[in-house]
Amino acid sequence: MVNAPQGDTTASTLAKPLTGSCFCSALEYEIRAPLVRAQSCHCSRCRKVFSGAGSAFGFLAEDSFRWVGETSALSRYASGNGWEIGFCGRCGSTLCGIHEGTVRGVTLGTIDGDPGVQLSQHIYVGSRAPWDHIGGDAPQFDEGPGD
Ligand SMILES: [Zn+2]
Ligand SMILES: [Zn+2]
Repeated sequence: MVNAPQGDTTASTLAKPLTGSCFCSALEYEIRAPLVRAQSCHCSRCRKVFSGAGSAFGFLAEDSFRWVGETSALSRYASGNGWEIGFCGRCGSTLCGIHEGTVRGVTLGTIDGDPGVQLSQHIYVGSRAPWDHIGGDAPQFDEGPGD
């Protein structure tokens, strides 16, 4: 199966960058290009990682992310398959997914205002929490995304 290439380096830049931060604002970031897409995973692992019904995660265009100011509060947790979760060591907010040292996506909840994308799919809905009632029109998959 061949996926369309992600992280188009010619992606347009935003006139006004997206900004985001953790709960205590020790960590702040800026995103200079539109998010590529966003999704929510409802698996039991994501519920723990994101401390909620699941993930709400936006994938970044290549080279569009940068930390603003100090990053000494950034902690990382290896979550498998070369991915690390980036979170604030002071307040505990989960901020980003780091793959092989590069920030590849951010948690939508840490973005200030409108992230400019909607969730395009819900995955691992078959193992969602019993109290999780998913709204919206985005397609839902019992396991991973369809073809
Ligand atoms: Zn914080
Ligand atoms: Zn998951």
